[in-house]
Amino acid sequence: MEQQLKAMLIEARKALLEAGNEVDLHSIRVQYLGKKGRLTAIMKDMGKLTAEERPIIGAVANKVKDELASVFEQQLQTLKHQHLAERMEQERIDVTLPGRHQRIGTKHPITLITEELVEIFSYLGFSVAQGPEVEEDFYNFEALNLPKDHPARDMQDTFYITDNEVLRTHTSPVQIRSMLQHQPPLRIIAPGTVYRRDSDITHSPMFHQIEGFMVDEHITFGDLKGVLTAFITECFGKNVGVRFRPSFFPFTEPSAEVDIQCVICGGNGCRVCQNSGWLEILGSGMIDPEVFASVNYSSEKYSGFAFGMGLERIAMLKYGVNDLRLFFENDVRFLRQFCA
Ligand SMILES: [Zn+2]
Repeated sequence: MEQQLKAMLIEARKALLEAGNEVDLHSIRVQYLGKKGRLTAIMKDMGKLTAEERPIIGAVANKVKDELASVFEQQLQTLKHQHLAERMEQERIDVTLPGRHQRIGTKHPITLITEELVEIFSYLGFSVAQGPEVEEDFYNFEALNLPKDHPARDMQDTFYITDNEVLRTHTSPVQIRSMLQHQPPLRIIAPGTVYRRDSDITHSPMFHQIEGFMVDEHITFGDLKGVLTAFITECFGKNVGVRFRPSFFPFTEPSAEVDIQCVICGGNGCRVCQNSGWLEILGSGMIDPEVFASVNYSSEKYSGFAFGMGLERIAMLKYGVNDLRLFFENDVRFLRQFCA
Protein backbone atom coordinates (compact mmCIF):
# COMPACT_ATOMS: atom_id res chain seq x y z
CA MET A 1 0.00 0.00 0.00
CA GLU A 2 2.82 2.31 0.79
CA GLN A 3 4.12 1.67 -2.73
CA GLN A 4 0.70 2.45 -4.16
CA LEU A 5 0.51 5.71 -2.23
CA LYS A 6 4.00 6.77 -3.31
CA ALA A 7 3.25 5.97 -6.94
CA MET A 8 0.02 7.96 -6.72
CA LEU A 9 1.90 10.89 -5.19
CA ILE A 10 4.32 11.02 -8.10
CA GLU A 11 1.55 10.70 -10.67
CA ALA A 12 -0.70 13.26 -8.99
CA ARG A 13 2.10 15.79 -8.49
CA LYS A 14 2.97 15.55 -12.17
CA ALA A 15 -0.67 15.94 -13.24
CA LEU A 16 -1.15 18.97 -10.98
CA LEU A 17 1.99 20.68 -12.23
CA GLU A 18 0.94 20.11 -15.83
CA ALA A 19 -2.54 21.58 -15.40
CA GLY A 20 -2.89 24.40 -17.91
CA ASN A 21 -5.69 26.27 -16.22
CA GLU A 22 -7.55 26.56 -12.93
CA VAL A 23 -10.51 24.42 -14.03
CA ASP A 24 -8.25 21.49 -14.95
CA LEU A 25 -6.29 21.94 -11.74
CA HIS A 26 -9.41 21.67 -9.59
CA SER A 27 -10.65 18.58 -11.42
CA ILE A 28 -7.25 16.85 -11.02
CA ARG A 29 -7.36 17.51 -7.30
CA VAL A 30 -10.83 15.94 -7.09
CA GLN A 31 -9.64 13.00 -9.16
CA TYR A 32 -6.92 12.17 -6.61
CA LEU A 33 -8.06 13.61 -3.29
CA GLY A 34 -11.86 13.81 -3.67
CA LYS A 35 -14.31 11.54 -1.78
CA LYS A 36 -14.43 9.13 -4.68
CA GLY A 37 -10.84 9.78 -5.69
CA ARG A 38 -7.75 7.60 -5.96
CA LEU A 39 -6.59 8.16 -2.39
CA THR A 40 -9.94 7.02 -0.97
CA ALA A 41 -9.83 3.97 -3.25
CA ILE A 42 -6.38 2.99 -1.98
CA MET A 43 -7.34 3.55 1.64
CA LYS A 44 -10.27 1.13 1.35
CA ASP A 45 -7.77 -1.67 1.92
CA MET A 46 -6.77 -0.25 5.32
CA GLY A 47 -8.95 -2.92 6.93
CA LYS A 48 -6.69 -5.66 5.58
CA LEU A 49 -3.66 -4.24 7.36
CA THR A 50 -2.28 -5.35 10.66
CA ALA A 51 -2.61 -3.17 13.75
CA GLU A 52 1.09 -2.26 13.49
CA GLU A 53 0.88 -1.35 9.83
CA ARG A 54 -2.19 0.88 10.08
CA PRO A 55 -0.67 3.93 11.82
CA ILE A 56 2.36 3.80 9.54
CA ILE A 57 0.23 3.78 6.39
CA GLY A 58 -2.09 6.38 7.92
CA ALA A 59 0.90 8.68 8.43
CA VAL A 60 2.09 8.09 4.85
CA ALA A 61 -1.40 8.83 3.52
CA ASN A 62 -1.51 12.12 5.49
CA LYS A 63 1.90 13.09 4.17
CA VAL A 64 0.75 12.39 0.62
CA LYS A 65 -2.40 14.46 1.21
CA ASP A 66 -0.44 17.38 2.67
CA GLU A 67 2.12 17.25 -0.08
CA LEU A 68 -0.50 17.23 -2.84
CA ALA A 69 -2.43 20.04 -1.15
CA SER A 70 0.69 22.15 -1.15
CA VAL A 71 1.50 21.31 -4.80
CA PHE A 72 -2.09 22.23 -5.68
CA GLU A 73 -1.82 25.56 -3.89
CA GLN A 74 1.52 26.33 -5.48
CA GLN A 75 0.24 25.51 -8.99
CA LEU A 76 -2.92 27.55 -8.38
CA GLN A 77 -0.83 30.64 -7.61
CA THR A 78 1.34 30.04 -10.67
CA LEU A 79 -1.73 29.84 -12.92
CA LYS A 80 -3.21 32.98 -11.42
CA HIS A 81 -0.03 34.92 -12.08
CA GLN A 82 0.14 33.56 -15.62
CA HIS A 83 -3.46 34.57 -16.26
CA LEU A 84 -2.86 38.06 -14.96
CA ALA A 85 0.28 38.43 -17.07
CA GLU A 86 -1.62 37.28 -20.16
CA ARG A 87 -4.42 39.76 -19.54
CA MET A 88 -1.97 42.56 -19.03
CA GLU A 89 -0.30 41.62 -22.29
CA GLN A 90 -3.60 41.49 -24.18
CA GLU A 91 -5.03 44.67 -22.71
CA ARG A 92 -1.85 46.62 -22.88
CA ILE A 93 -2.45 50.17 -24.12
CA ASP A 94 -0.66 50.91 -27.33
CA VAL A 95 0.49 54.45 -26.74
CA THR A 96 1.65 54.76 -30.35
CA LEU A 97 -1.95 54.68 -31.64
CA PRO A 98 -3.27 58.09 -32.68
CA GLY A 99 -5.56 59.60 -30.00
CA ARG A 100 -9.31 59.94 -30.31
CA HIS A 101 -9.54 63.69 -30.48
CA GLN A 102 -12.23 65.73 -28.81
CA ARG A 103 -14.33 67.69 -31.28
CA ILE A 104 -14.55 71.35 -30.50
CA GLY A 105 -18.05 72.79 -30.74
CA THR A 106 -18.87 75.49 -33.26
CA LYS A 107 -20.97 78.58 -32.92
CA HIS A 108 -24.57 78.16 -34.03
CA PRO A 109 -25.26 79.90 -37.38
CA ILE A 110 -27.81 82.16 -35.65
CA THR A 111 -25.11 83.21 -33.19
CA LEU A 112 -22.70 83.81 -36.09
CA ILE A 113 -25.15 85.98 -38.02
CA THR A 114 -26.08 87.90 -34.85
CA GLU A 115 -22.43 88.62 -34.16
CA GLU A 116 -21.86 89.73 -37.74
CA LEU A 117 -24.85 92.08 -37.73
CA VAL A 118 -23.91 93.53 -34.36
CA GLU A 119 -20.42 94.19 -35.71
CA ILE A 120 -21.72 95.92 -38.86
CA PHE A 121 -24.09 98.14 -36.91
CA SER A 122 -21.38 98.90 -34.35
CA TYR A 123 -19.33 100.43 -37.18
CA LEU A 124 -22.37 102.57 -37.95
CA GLY A 125 -22.43 103.84 -34.37
CA PHE A 126 -25.14 101.58 -32.92
CA SER A 127 -24.89 99.97 -29.50
CA VAL A 128 -26.62 96.82 -28.25
CA ALA A 129 -29.58 96.78 -25.85
CA GLN A 130 -31.59 93.86 -24.49
CA GLY A 131 -34.96 93.34 -22.88
CA PRO A 132 -37.01 90.61 -21.21
CA GLU A 133 -38.61 87.80 -23.23
CA VAL A 134 -41.65 87.76 -20.96
CA GLU A 135 -42.95 91.21 -21.68
CA GLU A 136 -45.75 93.42 -20.47
CA ASP A 137 -48.57 94.22 -22.86
CA PHE A 138 -47.64 97.90 -22.62
CA TYR A 139 -44.15 97.44 -24.08
CA ASN A 140 -45.05 94.74 -26.59
CA PHE A 141 -48.23 96.37 -27.95
CA GLU A 142 -49.70 99.45 -26.32
CA ALA A 143 -46.72 101.80 -26.49
CA LEU A 144 -46.08 100.69 -30.08
CA ASN A 145 -49.36 102.14 -31.22
CA LEU A 146 -51.17 98.82 -30.85
CA PRO A 147 -54.00 99.50 -28.36
CA LYS A 148 -56.09 96.56 -27.11
CA ASP A 149 -58.76 96.80 -29.80
CA HIS A 150 -56.30 97.46 -32.63
CA PRO A 151 -56.93 95.17 -35.62
CA ALA A 152 -53.19 94.91 -36.27
CA ARG A 153 -52.84 92.80 -33.12
CA ASP A 154 -54.37 90.03 -35.21
CA MET A 155 -51.24 90.12 -37.34
CA GLN A 156 -49.42 88.54 -34.45
CA ASP A 157 -50.39 85.28 -32.91
CA THR A 158 -49.41 85.85 -29.36
CA PHE A 159 -48.54 83.51 -26.49
CA TYR A 160 -50.24 85.06 -23.49
CA ILE A 161 -48.83 84.37 -19.99
CA THR A 162 -51.53 86.42 -18.27
CA ASP A 163 -53.94 89.05 -19.62
CA ASN A 164 -51.17 91.56 -19.20
CA GLU A 165 -48.04 89.51 -19.92
CA VAL A 166 -46.92 87.90 -23.18
CA LEU A 167 -43.93 86.14 -24.65
CA ARG A 168 -42.68 89.05 -26.71
CA THR A 169 -43.81 88.76 -30.33
CA HIS A 170 -41.01 91.00 -31.62
CA THR A 171 -37.90 92.81 -30.40
CA SER A 172 -39.63 96.21 -30.71
CA PRO A 173 -40.46 96.49 -26.97
CA VAL A 174 -36.71 97.06 -26.42
CA GLN A 175 -37.20 100.28 -28.41
CA ILE A 176 -39.80 101.48 -25.89
CA ARG A 177 -37.72 100.44 -22.88
CA SER A 178 -34.62 102.19 -24.25
CA MET A 179 -36.49 105.39 -25.10
CA LEU A 180 -38.07 105.50 -21.63
CA GLN A 181 -34.64 105.14 -20.05
CA HIS A 182 -32.62 107.50 -22.23
CA GLN A 183 -33.02 110.79 -24.01
CA PRO A 184 -31.99 111.22 -27.67
CA PRO A 185 -29.68 110.96 -29.49
CA LEU A 186 -30.08 107.18 -29.59
CA ARG A 187 -28.66 104.56 -31.93
CA ILE A 188 -29.54 101.11 -30.68
CA ILE A 189 -29.84 97.57 -31.98
CA ALA A 190 -31.54 94.81 -30.04
CA PRO A 191 -31.04 91.22 -31.14
CA GLY A 192 -33.12 88.58 -29.37
CA THR A 193 -35.51 85.68 -29.22
CA VAL A 194 -39.19 86.22 -30.05
CA TYR A 195 -42.26 83.97 -29.96
CA ARG A 196 -45.36 83.46 -32.06
CA ARG A 197 -47.98 80.78 -32.33
CA ASP A 198 -46.79 79.66 -35.72
CA SER A 199 -45.24 76.39 -36.71
CA ASP A 200 -44.74 75.04 -40.23
CA ILE A 201 -41.98 74.71 -42.83
CA THR A 202 -41.28 78.43 -42.89
CA HIS A 203 -42.36 79.39 -39.35
CA SER A 204 -41.05 78.39 -35.96
CA PRO A 205 -42.81 79.29 -32.68
CA MET A 206 -39.46 80.59 -31.40
CA PHE A 207 -37.18 82.58 -33.65
CA HIS A 208 -34.80 85.51 -33.63
CA GLN A 209 -35.03 89.12 -34.65
CA ILE A 210 -32.81 92.10 -34.62
CA GLU A 211 -34.38 95.45 -33.97
CA GLY A 212 -32.71 98.74 -34.67
CA PHE A 213 -33.62 102.38 -34.31
CA MET A 214 -32.12 105.80 -34.39
CA VAL A 215 -33.60 108.94 -32.83
CA ASP A 216 -32.24 112.46 -32.94
CA GLU A 217 -33.12 115.89 -34.24
CA HIS A 218 -33.53 116.07 -38.02
CA ILE A 219 -33.45 112.35 -38.77
CA THR A 220 -35.02 111.76 -42.19
CA PHE A 221 -36.03 108.92 -44.44
CA GLY A 222 -32.72 109.58 -46.21
CA ASP A 223 -30.89 108.50 -43.03
CA LEU A 224 -32.96 105.33 -42.93
CA LYS A 225 -32.06 104.53 -46.54
CA GLY A 226 -28.41 105.40 -45.97
CA VAL A 227 -27.97 103.22 -42.86
CA LEU A 228 -29.89 100.22 -44.25
CA THR A 229 -28.13 100.36 -47.63
CA ALA A 230 -24.76 100.50 -45.87
CA PHE A 231 -25.76 97.48 -43.80
CA ILE A 232 -26.94 95.46 -46.81
CA THR A 233 -23.80 96.26 -48.80
CA GLU A 234 -21.64 95.17 -45.89
CA CYS A 235 -23.64 91.98 -45.28
CA PHE A 236 -24.43 90.79 -48.83
CA GLY A 237 -21.80 92.52 -50.96
CA LYS A 238 -21.42 95.74 -52.94
CA ASN A 239 -23.14 94.56 -56.08
CA VAL A 240 -26.43 93.42 -54.60
CA GLY A 241 -29.42 95.53 -55.65
CA VAL A 242 -31.62 97.12 -52.94
CA ARG A 243 -35.14 98.49 -53.19
CA PHE A 244 -37.55 100.12 -50.76
CA ARG A 245 -41.26 99.31 -51.11
CA PRO A 246 -44.06 101.23 -49.36
CA SER A 247 -45.66 99.14 -46.62
CA PHE A 248 -47.64 99.42 -43.40
CA PHE A 249 -46.64 98.90 -39.77
CA PRO A 250 -48.58 100.33 -36.81
CA PHE A 251 -45.43 101.76 -35.20
CA THR A 252 -43.92 103.54 -38.22
CA GLU A 253 -45.17 106.13 -40.69
CA PRO A 254 -44.27 106.10 -43.50
CA SER A 255 -43.18 102.45 -43.61
CA ALA A 256 -41.11 100.55 -46.10
CA GLU A 257 -40.19 96.97 -46.71
CA VAL A 258 -36.68 96.43 -47.98
CA ASP A 259 -35.83 93.90 -50.68
CA ILE A 260 -32.48 92.75 -51.95
CA GLN A 261 -31.77 91.29 -55.32
CA CYS A 262 -32.12 87.51 -55.08
CA VAL A 263 -28.79 86.13 -53.85
CA ILE A 264 -29.59 82.71 -55.33
CA CYS A 265 -30.31 83.67 -58.97
CA GLY A 266 -28.76 87.14 -59.06
CA GLY A 267 -32.11 88.68 -59.97
CA ASN A 268 -32.97 86.45 -62.92
CA GLY A 269 -35.82 84.71 -61.13
CA CYS A 270 -35.85 81.34 -59.36
CA ARG A 271 -37.93 79.24 -56.99
CA VAL A 272 -36.59 80.98 -53.85
CA CYS A 273 -37.59 84.48 -55.05
CA GLN A 274 -40.73 83.12 -56.74
CA ASN A 275 -39.36 84.37 -60.05
CA SER A 276 -39.48 87.99 -58.92
CA GLY A 277 -35.71 88.38 -58.68
CA TRP A 278 -36.15 90.05 -55.26
CA LEU A 279 -36.15 88.87 -51.66
CA GLU A 280 -37.77 90.75 -48.79
CA ILE A 281 -35.35 90.99 -45.87
CA LEU A 282 -36.63 93.62 -43.47
CA GLY A 283 -39.32 96.04 -42.45
CA SER A 284 -38.63 99.66 -41.57
CA GLY A 285 -40.07 103.14 -41.33
CA MET A 286 -40.06 106.49 -39.59
CA ILE A 287 -41.09 106.11 -35.94
CA ASP A 288 -44.76 107.06 -35.57
CA PRO A 289 -45.44 110.22 -33.47
CA GLU A 290 -47.85 108.09 -31.39
CA VAL A 291 -44.90 105.95 -30.29
CA PHE A 292 -42.93 109.05 -29.31
CA ALA A 293 -45.96 110.23 -27.32
CA SER A 294 -46.02 107.02 -25.29
CA VAL A 295 -42.38 107.56 -24.21
CA ASN A 296 -42.80 111.33 -23.73
CA TYR A 297 -40.54 112.37 -26.58
CA SER A 298 -41.48 115.53 -28.43
CA SER A 299 -42.23 114.66 -32.03
CA GLU A 300 -41.79 118.36 -32.82
CA LYS A 301 -38.18 118.17 -31.76
CA TYR A 302 -37.21 114.60 -32.53
CA SER A 303 -37.62 112.19 -35.38
CA GLY A 304 -36.24 108.76 -35.97
CA PHE A 305 -36.42 105.54 -37.88
CA ALA A 306 -36.73 101.92 -36.86
CA PHE A 307 -36.25 98.59 -38.58
CA GLY A 308 -36.54 94.92 -37.76
CA MET A 309 -35.55 91.69 -39.45
CA GLY A 310 -35.69 87.97 -38.88
CA LEU A 311 -32.24 86.55 -38.21
CA GLU A 312 -33.10 83.07 -39.49
CA ARG A 313 -34.08 84.59 -42.83
CA ILE A 314 -30.84 86.57 -43.10
CA ALA A 315 -28.84 83.45 -42.14
CA MET A 316 -30.72 81.32 -44.71
CA LEU A 317 -29.92 83.77 -47.50
CA LYS A 318 -26.37 84.38 -46.42
CA TYR A 319 -25.41 80.74 -45.82
CA GLY A 320 -27.63 79.21 -48.50
CA VAL A 321 -29.77 77.20 -46.05
CA ASN A 322 -33.06 76.10 -47.61
CA ASP A 323 -35.00 74.84 -44.58
CA LEU A 324 -35.73 76.91 -41.48
CA ARG A 325 -36.04 73.80 -39.32
CA LEU A 326 -32.33 73.00 -39.70
CA PHE A 327 -31.58 75.85 -37.29
CA PHE A 328 -33.58 74.22 -34.51
CA GLU A 329 -32.83 70.53 -34.94
CA ASN A 330 -29.24 70.80 -33.68
CA ASP A 331 -27.98 68.13 -36.04
CA VAL A 332 -24.21 68.26 -35.61
CA ARG A 333 -23.69 67.35 -39.29
CA PHE A 334 -25.38 70.65 -40.11
CA LEU A 335 -23.79 72.69 -37.32
CA ARG A 336 -20.29 71.39 -38.06
CA GLN A 337 -20.35 73.19 -41.40
CA PHE A 338 -20.19 76.51 -39.63
CA CYS A 339 -16.65 76.13 -38.28
CA ALA A 340 -15.12 79.56 -38.03
ZN1 LIG B 1 -34.06 84.12 -57.25
